Amino acid sequence: MTKYKLEYIWLDGYTPVPNLRGKTQIKEFDSFPSLDELPLWGFDGSSTMQAEGRSSDCVLKPVRVFPDGARKNGVLVMCEVMMPDGVTPHASNKRATILDDEGAWFGFEQEYFFYKDGRPLGFPEAGYPAPQGPYYTGVGYKNVGAVARQIVEEHLDLCLVAGINHEGINAEVAKGQWEFQIFGKGSKRAADEMWMARYLMQRLTETYGIDIEYHCKPLGDTDWNGSGMHANFSTSFMRETGGKEYFEKLMDAFKHACEDHIAVYGPDNHMRLTGKHETAAIHEFSYGVADRGASIRVPHSFVNNGYKGYLEDRRPNSQGDPYQIASQILKTIASVPTAASASAAA
Ligand code: ADP
Ligand code: MN
Ligand code: MN
Ligand code: MN
Repeated sequence: MTKYKLEYIWLDGYTPVPNLRGKTQIKEFDSFPSLDELPLWGFDGSSTMQAEGRSSDCVLKPVRVFPDGARKNGVLVMCEVMMPDGVTPHASNKRATILDDEGAWFGFEQEYFFYKDGRPLGFPEAGYPAPQGPYYTGVGYKNVGAVARQIVEEHLDLCLVAGINHEGINAEVAKGQWEFQIFGKGSKRAADEMWMARYLMQRLTETYGIDIEYHCKPLGDTDWNGSGMHANFSTSFMRETGGKEYFEKLMDAFKHACEDHIAVYGPDNHMRLTGKHETAAIHEFSYGVADRGASIRVPHSFVNNGYKGYLEDRRPNSQGDPYQIASQILKTIASVPTAASASAAA
């Protein structure tokens, strides 16, 4: 038997953006534990904005398990928060009720700023560094500093050891701003991995005295870029059948559901989606081929393949909840009949 360090991780009840929380318990197993071997656990909901009435106990229900590369015999346990009966999802538990579909694939591009001493990493104590231009995908100390690359590389390795589908890294447009991409099949799978990747980034940067700033426009109304979390998506129908007619109906449905999407695409998005700096206007839905100023960018490959493949919704922001973003995209897609569902109904 081996003593494993189990880190139970969950989302708290703060709004509009939940915080990640975690605590450790030690349990013995013959080998690396599987999900069904992990017991329910509890925590004090009165300290996390999750207490209901006079009873403050909330239940943690394990839903995904990942190896923890930073700890000997470490296990990362993604949990849903349940009511004391252990079966009713807590009101803050969005994951329990989202739409899911294994054939729906999501690729999230998480942008964020490293922050140190209350400002982006690499910003001088007063004023600003040289204007944007050389930082995006940049190299060299004056562009990326001394520690950012070390952090993103260590984060990449932690994700890969955990089995998270980390797909890539790039330095972003603002100084101190970076991006990583997570891909997953199914909305729960993709979003679980994004939340766990966020957790690993925040835990890793503790030792550097650096925080992660996820706000979508931390530098306000300046010439410094904000942060998004573009959501690339495809269903099996979009990949295998697609077609121009279906695509146009789909875009029509997205246009009509615009406000439903914006409602779950992250707080303060009006600060970012101004229609300037390669962003769309927040209340006007648009789409375009290779258009990075549109709400939805249609890749060249999509058109060249007969309107088949994936689309990029550029509106979700860096603080958005990937569970709710993926679910809203699936909801809008489900409102558009495919040829198959139309003939089945006839
Ligand atoms: P860009 O910065 O040009 O918008 P990235 O390379 O950062 O593009 O991100 C592209 C994302 O698209 C990746 O996360 C990738 O996983 C995702 N992706 C690629 N193919 C598909 C697909 N068929 N369905 C869903 N997402 C996809
Ligand atoms: Mn990208
Ligand atoms: Mn980007
Ligand atoms: Mn993108």
